[in-house]
Amino acid sequence: MRLPKADIRYAIGASLISVIASSSGAASAYVKEGYTNLRIGGLASAAVVLFGLGLYLHRHGSEAPDYRIFKGEPADLSMESVESVAAFFIQCYPVAQKGRGLIMKAMRFHEHGGIDKLRYEDAPDPLPGPGEVVVRVKACALNYLDIWERVGLPGVTIPLPHISGSDVAGIIEAVGPGVAHVKPGDKTLVNPGISCMACEECYRGRDNYCRTYSALGYMTDGGYAELVRIPAVNALPYPEGLDFTDAAAIPLGFMTAWHMLVTRCNIRPGEEVLIIGAGSGVGSAAIQIARLFRARVITTAGGERKLQKALELGADHVIDHTKHRIRERVRDITRRRGVDIVFEHVGAATWEDSISSLAHHARLVTCGATTGFDAKVNLRHLFAKEITVMGSYMGSKHELLEVLKHVKAGHLRPVVSHIVPLEEAAAAQTVMEKREHFGKVVLQLD
Ligand SMILES: [Zn+2]
Repeated sequence: MRLPKADIRYAIGASLISVIASSSGAASAYVKEGYTNLRIGGLASAAVVLFGLGLYLHRHGSEAPDYRIFKGEPADLSMESVESVAAFFIQCYPVAQKGRGLIMKAMRFHEHGGIDKLRYEDAPDPLPGPGEVVVRVKACALNYLDIWERVGLPGVTIPLPHISGSDVAGIIEAVGPGVAHVKPGDKTLVNPGISCMACEECYRGRDNYCRTYSALGYMTDGGYAELVRIPAVNALPYPEGLDFTDAAAIPLGFMTAWHMLVTRCNIRPGEEVLIIGAGSGVGSAAIQIARLFRARVITTAGGERKLQKALELGADHVIDHTKHRIRERVRDITRRRGVDIVFEHVGAATWEDSISSLAHHARLVTCGATTGFDAKVNLRHLFAKEITVMGSYMGSKHELLEVLKHVKAGHLRPVVSHIVPLEEAAAAQTVMEKREHFGKVVLQLD
């Protein structure tokens, strides 16, 4: 066998092709992200090279000059031939980009701070480990938790860079070893509560009391991205009949409101409930749940448009907190008696009104404090009126399933305020911060 110059040209061409394929594998981009991704990047590159070469030879048959060289036959391998091989791989580049499965788009922040810290950028694809699945995100609803994560919470160390997002609806993209109940291509609604599933509380079905309990997107990367990795047990059956943005608007808001009213307060028919902040995701869910239990609902909101929407959701009385003092209106509506339950999540700004609106033997339940954590309680009122003040944190998997049954039956419905593309997540968070929404603000992905 002689070694014509064509062989050297071929070697140069093949090297060029390898470089193109390697960059498509993005191995170099992963040096910073860890050796696992780097190794997989390399393997993906090799696979792309071999696949492409195989396809090329299959297409051009055994008469292709480069194929004849492989067989040791002399062939006049012209530069055009090398270029045609290179051109073929360049054509493959977009396919390789898609197929390599290593880089996704995500909205991340690298440091805590203002809205300008959110960056729409490339991030490594999550890979499913044992008992995990990766979901292709179709919609991700916002929660105020996302804003706390970005701003930073005292004493809480969130891994950076971070991807927020707890409420995800999408399609299973990949499953890890040991996952049997879902498969790639299945639609799913993600349960945002992540727990160990092996402790006494988890076995009791009270996984939100698990010591490891956390929301998706809080300590782990969440749904402000094309892909998100979750424990497989969190992939729930999809609530058919709802589009992705409606489905994503359900989990955290409804399971939190359900846990507060049904599990913590044991709400009963005929009770009077003051729901602070009708326009929030959790508030709009609470109005519906209280009505489901035949309670009488008084709720607060700012502005005529939101008050009207609260009435449409089933509220019996609405209070415009920009015009009236909440405690005075509650006193009028309840004929000085006060309410049986106050549903709180606003915190410092409304706390005194909330406490003052309680009837004797009433209970106050709170799941958050978007306007600040410092609040006072007059202990004389607390003991003399036998008031109960309760904390509440998210909800259990079972409570979410209860909610979904009522959604299916048409008793509860997701309330979507704004639908925004992922790349405009900063604008979406601004809508929430300015309280321009009524219901959920939802990110939508293609
Ligand atoms: Zn547990």
